[in-house]
This record gives sequence, C-alpha cells and structure tokens, in this order.
Amino acid sequence: MDKLFIADEKDVREGSTMDVYFDRTKKILEASGLSGIKVCAEISGGSLPKNWKWGVFCGLEEVIRLTEGLPISMSAIPEGTIFRPRTADSVRVPLANIFGAYTDFGILETAILGMFCQPSGIATAAARTKIAAKNKTVLAFGNRRMHPAVAGVLDRSSYIGGCDSVSSIIGGRIIGREPVGTVPHTLMLLMGSNDAAFRAFDEIIEEEVPRIMLIDTFSDERTAALEACNSVRDLKGVRLDTPGSRRGNFKELINEVRWELDMNGHKDVDIIVSGGLDESSIAGIVDTSVSGFGVGTAISNAPTLDLAMDVVEKDGQPISKRGKFGGRKFTYRCPQCFDMGVSLKRDDRIPCGCGCEMEMIETEVLRGGKRVCKERTPSEIREYVLKQLRTIGEL
Ligand SMILES: [Zn+2]
Repeated sequence: MDKLFIADEKDVREGSTMDVYFDRTKKILEASGLSGIKVCAEISGGSLPKNWKWGVFCGLEEVIRLTEGLPISMSAIPEGTIFRPRTADSVRVPLANIFGAYTDFGILETAILGMFCQPSGIATAAARTKIAAKNKTVLAFGNRRMHPAVAGVLDRSSYIGGCDSVSSIIGGRIIGREPVGTVPHTLMLLMGSNDAAFRAFDEIIEEEVPRIMLIDTFSDERTAALEACNSVRDLKGVRLDTPGSRRGNFKELINEVRWELDMNGHKDVDIIVSGGLDESSIAGIVDTSVSGFGVGTAISNAPTLDLAMDVVEKDGQPISKRGKFGGRKFTYRCPQCFDMGVSLKRDDRIPCGCGCEMEMIETEVLRGGKRVCKERTPSEIREYVLKQLRTIGEL
C-alpha cells in the first residue's frame, strides 16, 4: 500500500515537519561555532482571532512529551489557563519560555508552535460554546471535517475546553472516557425504517451505551420521537439533526417535541440537537427544553491562535526583534479579573487595576530535559477550565 501523506510521530520528533529555514539556521550556527549560545525563547501572541478577549491555553502536555529528553528547560503557564495575550500596558504575555541552546530545540519550533496554536484555538472555541450552551451538554462531533491524523488532538482540546464528550475512538482513549455517538442516518436508510433501525440498535449494541435515537430521517420529528420511545426500552434521548431546509422555527420545533414527549409520559427522554450549530445559533435555542448540543465544525475548525516563538534573551542579556519585548519575563495573572501582568522578577508584587494583587502563574515543567511537573489528566485540566469560567462569570 502506498504511504499516506501524514507525518508520523518519528517525522515530528526528527524535525521532518519543520520549516526548512530552521534547519538552515542550525547549520549556519554550527558552522560558525555559535551553537552553544544560550537563549530564552518566549512563546506569546499579539492578539486573538475573532476579537476574542481571552483564550484557553492548550497543548502543553504534548509539547512536554515532544521536548522531554532534550538538553533544555521550560516554564509555562498551566495547561487550561484562561489568558489574555497582553497586559494592560500591551506587553505580550509569555505563555511558555524555553531555555537552552537554540540549536538544541530550533528544529522543533514549527512543531511546538503548532502543538500550542491549534489546540488552544479549539479549546477556546469549545469553552465559548459551553458558555453559549449555558453549561448544558456539548458533544464534540467535528472530527469528520478535519484530517484524521489529528483526531485525537482535536478531541482532547475540545474536551479540555469544556465539551462533555468526544466522538472518536482515539479521542476517547486519550481523554480516558467512552466516546459518545448516536446513530447515523445511513442506518435508517439501509434498514428501511426508523422502527427497524431503533429496534436493531437496542438489540445489538451493548447495554451500557446510552440509547439516543436520531429522529429526522424520514418523518416529522414529533412522530419519530414517539416511535423511538416505543421501539427502545431505556431510551435516553432523541437527536434532532433536522436539515436546514426543514427547520422553519427550530426553537418551536424543539418545544413541540418536548410537549409531545411529556404528554405521552416520556419526561425523562432528553432532546439533543445537532447540525451546523455554533455559538450564535446555540444562543438562539438554548432557552428551550433542549438538554444538549452536538457541535461539529464550529469547534473543530476553530481559528488557530497566532502564537510566535521569539528569542528575548541571549547569554543572559535581554535582546529582541523590533515589535517584541526583550528580557526573560515571568507571567502573572489577577485571580479575580484574569488581567495579565509580566515582570522581569520572580515573585514580584503587581497590583491589578481591579484592586487585587496579581499572582505569578508560571511553573517549571522541564529542567535539563527532565519533567519536573506532575502530569495532569485531561479531566483535571477541563475542571480547571470550567472553574475559571465560573470565576469570571462566564459560566
Ligand atoms: Zn484584577
């Protein structure tokens, strides 16, 4: 079989996915006898896409796994931290700092940035979706719109940002939870009727899998909802994936299905909706009796964050290109309003505009190539994200 076009783990670790100019830089530095220069390289962003006011920092665990063993040290804000890209004085806030000879980690610059930028964009979109959903269930369904090589990364990032479950098998494995899915329209089409498909699913699929039936394939949703109740013993929910051409007033349709279910004694059957949902369309239907949302492209195709890696210190002395702020900076954040601060000093006292004092939030994650922080599970990181969203009153 011919090879697929994806980079495997070996390619990434060996630098095959790097932009070629990093390799050339390494060659030149080595040939010039400058490979030993120690630098501090800062990872920061000037602004966030779509005018987002804050982002969710995601991808750190994978970057640690990538760089562990190299002769470098690294500090970073904890994964899952809600951050703003700049301080009130518009200084770029370091999300991570890498210390060592540039030639020892430069060939991984492209990979490191990619591992932060895309996951952080997805985690931020997931958090914003969770807020729009007013803390109701959000299921990440967006893998099919992205390349399968990154399915696990997409699902992990969606989950960390606040999604309650993910749909891919590899994603489930990475986050340590069963993946969630309902039924594709194909099953009803091939089995010939809702009833046949619903009954077959109930008979054949393991008992622990929640029974959530898709009810928009052939007939009106309220008819199919009752059909599902009759065909499946322990029906957990019904999913409306109603096509745009039939949606009319989606909010009323949801309320009508709820009414019909309740009236027929199925108050405990949940209503899940899906199909092209995003933050704004969810906001329009969240105040109905809907229990959860399946969200696809709006999360998996989230804008990537525009983070950069910049040398800010050379042999212990501040240096930087134009437009960047030199010096090794420690990252601070206000525990109340999450405004950010930086200082050239560790454990500095920085007052926040809101009256609180900022806290230093960076931690050392690698020292001389050895991991010096405890690995946190995706569930722990997700809990940290949700707690912060509650703190700033978003959730
Ligand atoms: Zn504050």
